[in-house]
Amino acid sequence: MNRTKQRVCPNCGWIFSAEGRMGEREHCPNCLSGIHKEDREGCECGGILEPVGIWVKADEKWEIIQRCNFCGEMQTSPMEENDSIIKALSIASKPLSQPPFPIERLEELTRMMGGSGRTGGDNNEPRK
Ligand SMILES: [Zn+2]
Ligand SMILES: [Zn+2]
Repeated sequence: MNRTKQRVCPNCGWIFSAEGRMGEREHCPNCLSGIHKEDREGCECGGILEPVGIWVKADEKWEIIQRCNFCGEMQTSPMEENDSIIKALSIASKPLSQPPFPIERLEELTRMMGGSGRTGGDNNEPRK
């Protein structure tokens, strides 16, 4: 029964049934969002996986980096033939205004990686 039911992307309204094989798809070809069915521990989530970046692997396969807007878990989903390239490119070229991790942690990370990565420049170095 469920096979004839149309699936609609909760993010952009794309109707998946046009594809005929939606069950296999992990993400919407139009907006590249997906549904986070369950997290790593196997708990049901149901959040929307938002595309936050594109990762080109060594074999030139593209993967969409997605982040769940509900639980924050990240995962990748391989690009498929009829996915929107325009959408993918717009994600890939997006400035880092929405990094896939909290910006506070970015500073923490750079500090851990050598200490000179403060975003503010308010260290105690004397300026003349
Ligand atoms: Zn969509
Ligand atoms: Zn989730």
